[in-house]
Amino acid sequence: MESVHNSKQPLSLVSGCAGFVGSHLVDRLIQKGHNVIGIDNLSTGSCENLCHALEQPELFRFIQGDLSDTTVIPDQAYDFIWHIASPASPPDYQRLSIDTMLINSLGTKNMLDMAKKKGSRFLLTSTSEVYGDPSMHPQKESYWGNVNPVGERACYDESKRFAEALTMEYHRKYAVETRIVRIFNTYGPRMRPNDGRVITNFIVQALEEKPLTIYGDGTQTRSFQYIDDLIDGLLLVMESDYAHPINLGNPEEYSMLELARIVLELTGSTSHLSFLPLPSDDPKQRKPDITLAKQLLSWEPKVTLRQGLMNILTTFQALKEI
Ligand code: NAD
Ligand code: UDP
Repeated sequence: MESVHNSKQPLSLVSGCAGFVGSHLVDRLIQKGHNVIGIDNLSTGSCENLCHALEQPELFRFIQGDLSDTTVIPDQAYDFIWHIASPASPPDYQRLSIDTMLINSLGTKNMLDMAKKKGSRFLLTSTSEVYGDPSMHPQKESYWGNVNPVGERACYDESKRFAEALTMEYHRKYAVETRIVRIFNTYGPRMRPNDGRVITNFIVQALEEKPLTIYGDGTQTRSFQYIDDLIDGLLLVMESDYAHPINLGNPEEYSMLELARIVLELTGSTSHLSFLPLPSDDPKQRKPDITLAKQLLSWEPKVTLRQGLMNILTTFQALKEI
């Protein structure tokens, strides 16, 4: 394979580069002067998310392939390996349940093996789902979680827990420089309008004047982080020297009923609410304790929910007009 690597620039490998988080990370790494190799099997991502990066072939190379196959990972001297690949939306990971378990287990091992071989620094994007339906609120990194190991979300929760355990083992056993980020619900432009997550569902439903689908009674809570804040945090975590998990999320907490009202207000929609059954094992509450990230990284989110929703709303309105 032809190399994108100019040896004066850091070289980053990004798995899941065509997805929501991965594509924003690729853009920021290129802006920072990295050479980037991105791998994605396009199961939930799209090359449309990479149009800026693909315009710079001297800095970015895209490889379509599945990371459970080691042969797709080019043998290069990576400075940084960002393991982002994994379905993240509940309908996606339930549809792709076995694939989700494989990318988080075998895929993580393959990426860690490359980091070990090349002496690269490795970052895993884990998730607040490792806390399950939490009995500690807000959730601190020291909380071990409350996860149903055989439920419908287990393909995601448990495989991310395995990925964290494997990452820590490569750190302890082989001294690989590893980082683990537990990402809380994140949203922004480039989410697929039909990805099934609550923010995309509500915005699309409001724009189409269709009922907003509230699962359960809508009192369950989430804390929503804007994508730019997450990318700032991921870069800081990679630069840090902290190998244990770090929460990145926005601690502003909303019930789904409150979120629906805000979306209706911002869109000016007259949609009604429609109540549907709550999916099994749906966490009742979720809010990050970000004390560690504040102390260690001097990081905290800057974008409020209303500001962030206006940004994603503008891109969805533009899509509707095409
Ligand atoms: P996404 O579905 O938009 O992106 C995931 C990308 O990984 C897609 O482009 C997909 O095609 C690719 N992929 C999946 N399996 C693959 C495989 N076997 N080989 C190669 N590529 C593969 O999801 P996202 O929201 O961008 O999430 C990215 C990461 O962040 C995931 O690891 C997810 O667990 C984590 N995360 C996201 C959120 C969030 O709110 N977005 C919250 C917590 C954790
Ligand atoms: N949800 C909802 N309506 C929808 C989609 C989701 O009420 O159309 C709820 C869902 O049950 C959950 C919350 O919104 O309680 C967040 O769901 P999402 O899928 O966005 O993320 P996650 O469950 O992974 O936190």
